[in-house]
Amino acid sequence: LFITLEGPDGMGKTTVLKQLLPLLAQKTAQPVIETREPGGSQIAEQIRQVLLDVNNTKMDDRTEALLFAAARRQHLVEVVLPALAADKIVLSDRFVDSSVAYQGGGREIGEQAVYDLNMFATAGLTPDLTLLLDGPVEAGLARIQKFRQDQSDRLDQETLAFHQRVRTSYLHLAAEFPKRVIKIDAMQPLEQVVADCLQQVQNHLPE
Ligand code: C5P
Ligand code: MG
Repeated sequence: LFITLEGPDGMGKTTVLKQLLPLLAQKTAQPVIETREPGGSQIAEQIRQVLLDVNNTKMDDRTEALLFAAARRQHLVEVVLPALAADKIVLSDRFVDSSVAYQGGGREIGEQAVYDLNMFATAGLTPDLTLLLDGPVEAGLARIQKFRQDQSDRLDQETLAFHQRVRTSYLHLAAEFPKRVIKIDAMQPLEQVVADCLQQVQNHLPE
C-alpha cells in the first residue's frame, strides 16, 4: 500500500505524518514506513542539495522539474519499490503531485507536461491513496514564517501568487482523480486532521 501526503507549504504534512505513523501501526500487522522526497537515498539527497542551494539563482524551471523527477526516480527505485515488494505500507511526504502543483502550476510549466515527465520517471507507479492537506495559503505561510526566517532555501523564496497557483493545481488534481486524491481540511485542530487521515487510510486496509 502506497500512501502519499501532499499540500501547499505550512499545511502540516510532516507533523501529521509523525502522528499518523504510530496510530496506523496499531491498526495493521503490516510494517509501516515513512519517507520523504526529494531525498531518502544518497543520490536523491545530493540532487536535493542542488535544488535547495540559494546560490543556484540561474536554475531554469524545466531543469528544476527534471531534477525533482530524477530525485524521485532514484528514491522510488532505492526506497519505495523494495518496501512495497516486501509488503510494507509506505507513507511518503510528497510525490508526483507535488511536482504537478509546484513546477506545473507554481512555475507555470504546465500541469500536463510535468505529469507526463513524471510518468516517465515513475514508469506509471501511482499512489493507492493521496491525502491532500488543504487550506488557505496565507494561513500556511503564516505558520511557517518563523521557521523561514532562519532556514530559508532556494525554494522558500516564492510569492503568495506562486503558492496560490500551487494550491489551485492541487485542487485540480483532487477534481481529476477524486478516488485517489482525498482532500482533508488542514485548518481543523491537529488531532482532527490526524483522525481524518487515519480514517481514510483505514478504508484502504485489507479486511
Ligand atoms: O514541505 P517540504 O519541506 O517537503 O518542501 C520543501 C521545499 O520544496 C518547500 O519550499 C516546497 O515549497 C518546495 N518544493 C517544490 N517543488 C516540489 C516539492 C517541494 O518547490 N516538487
Ligand atoms: Mg519548506
